[in-house]
Amino acid sequence: MPYIKAVFPGTFDPIHYGHIDIALRAARLFDEVVVAVYDRPLKELVFSPEERVAMVRKALAGHPNIQVMGYSGLTVEFCRKIGARVIVRGLRVFSDFEREFRMALTNHRLAPEIEVVALITSAKYMFLSSTTVREVAALGGDVSFMVPPFVAEALREKFRNRAAPYFPASLRGE
Ligand code: ADP
Repeated sequence: MPYIKAVFPGTFDPIHYGHIDIALRAARLFDEVVVAVYDRPLKELVFSPEERVAMVRKALAGHPNIQVMGYSGLTVEFCRKIGARVIVRGLRVFSDFEREFRMALTNHRLAPEIEVVALITSAKYMFLSSTTVREVAALGGDVSFMVPPFVAEALREKFRNRAAPYFPASLRGE
């Protein structure tokens, strides 16, 4: 059997239990998994590229066949550069499917030698996304069931100076 290196790319802003689950499952399927943190997506980010890489490293430390790297540009170019033949993606709710399908077909067109393997989320993480984590954390809610404790702490730190409520107390039912 040939040695198979896989890349699990994403923004990881921040890493949560759904990502960790996919990374660990991929590490059981492939010889080596490179969790690749994309530096500058078009969307706005809460954490810097360095912070996101550091958190992914900490969350996945102690797994000898998982490495964490940062990357820029096309995912398929990054795969070629490091000799990876597989891109791993996680699939959650149905709404992910169209986007992943489009991305997989595009990547296949750009690099036919690279296969996209989609792992279906574990049911308990089906509705978990970095967007939800950020939204709940920004409003001061408990995210401990979504992210490791050190990520929850980093979020608390980021959102420490939240803006004061817009409406006066009388309009807020207080
Ligand atoms: P992107 O910015 O590329 O969408 P994300 O950091 O949001 O990247 O996610 C990286 C990968 O992890 C994607 O394939 C995404 O579908 C997958 N993923 C995110 N949340 C979950 C989850 N709860 N269960 C399984 N896979 C997930």
